[in-house]
Amino acid sequence: MFSDLRPSLYGENRHPSGLVYHHRPIMSHPLPIFTPPGLTPPPRASTQRRLIDSHGRTIRDLRLGVTDRCNFRCVYCMDPDVRFLRKSQLMTLPEMVRVARICVDLGVRKIRLTGGEPTIYPHLDDLIGQLSRLPIDDLAMTTNGSLFDLDRARLWKRLGLRRLTLSLDTLREDRFTSITRSSTTPAKVIASITAARDAGLRPVRVNAVIVRGRNEDEILDLVALARELDIEMRFIEYMPLDSARAWDRDKMVSAREILDIIESRYPLRAIGRQGASGTSLNHEFADGSPGGVGIIASVTRVFCSRCSRLRITADAQVRPCLFSTEEFDLRSLMREGGGGVGGASDRAIEDFLMDATWTKQRGHSINEATYVQPTRPMSSIGG
Ligand code: SAM
Ligand code: SF4
Repeated sequence: MFSDLRPSLYGENRHPSGLVYHHRPIMSHPLPIFTPPGLTPPPRASTQRRLIDSHGRTIRDLRLGVTDRCNFRCVYCMDPDVRFLRKSQLMTLPEMVRVARICVDLGVRKIRLTGGEPTIYPHLDDLIGQLSRLPIDDLAMTTNGSLFDLDRARLWKRLGLRRLTLSLDTLREDRFTSITRSSTTPAKVIASITAARDAGLRPVRVNAVIVRGRNEDEILDLVALARELDIEMRFIEYMPLDSARAWDRDKMVSAREILDIIESRYPLRAIGRQGASGTSLNHEFADGSPGGVGIIASVTRVFCSRCSRLRITADAQVRPCLFSTEEFDLRSLMREGGGGVGGASDRAIEDFLMDATWTKQRGHSINEATYVQPTRPMSSIGG
């Protein structure tokens, strides 16, 4: 998908689709290297080296794409004939650990492993073990819940994983097949949810993307499951990040609609967002039932002004925003001069990450006519 790049003389590759890849010029160049016109350079000389953007936000939360591969082909995410990145493009285990460590040195305190499907990654247990030794407050993972059992969840817990978020959009077997285009069943994912809970990976959160005409009639059933299992059910507004480019606003079920449906049976009490940069509008049940409901309203209640996230894809491209149409090629920098973990110095990688972060856009433009969908689908961005 990303092999047809046309190099330019200006430290930039332009994919025919328009996606721009920035990389550090081969010849050494005075940094900063890609401050766009009109943007003041990042305060890199400051004594406190942090990931700060030009809008005053500080990055504390790293989303690390472990792989772009997946055993599902969810309709809102990945096409059946998706072309995966080449193995040689993917970060190695030492590269992932190194990048994470440098981000932590620059102030990151939360790491979430995602993908693609992170449980497909063969060295996942080692990765969890090594990342958990970094001085962070939280290590979490998002998974489709199809490939692990209680023993594995217990192992992850022992290795230092704190929390799991699973995805489950429907409780009906036929629908599960048509949404995920996989041979897994909702029963398997529910077993994984209870395994995560029983292994102590709490709080367990479960994501459901609500797409009109597919599963909005199951919102109440999913809430009933949250009450029964004492988990937090998080409803996500469908975003234009699907590889089929089939998103349209009419298919998106808004936070308001979702809340109205839930409150028609289960009155809720809003308890706000968790932390200053939380994405989810959280609710507890007014009747005191266990479990809870979260709404991730990325489209209708934009939370960009509080964003503290940076994404690094499985092929080591830095994406300051989920909706970035520009990426910063950390892999070339890391592998410069022979590859592996040799490459650039930690200091050069820090500078690179600080520069990339500085360019983080103020917010997404889904709600504007000028919105340009990123070339990568959610699975390859690291959702
Ligand atoms: N494979 C794992 C999973 O499905 O949980 C982790 C990666 S997946 C890309 C992360 C999350 O992104 C999932 O909860 C998924 O439902 C969500 N997602 C994917 N495509 C989306 C879209 N177009 N709009 C909203 N959420 C989406
Ligand atoms: Fe795979 Fe997750 Fe995307 Fe579904 S949402 S196709 S499970 S990466």
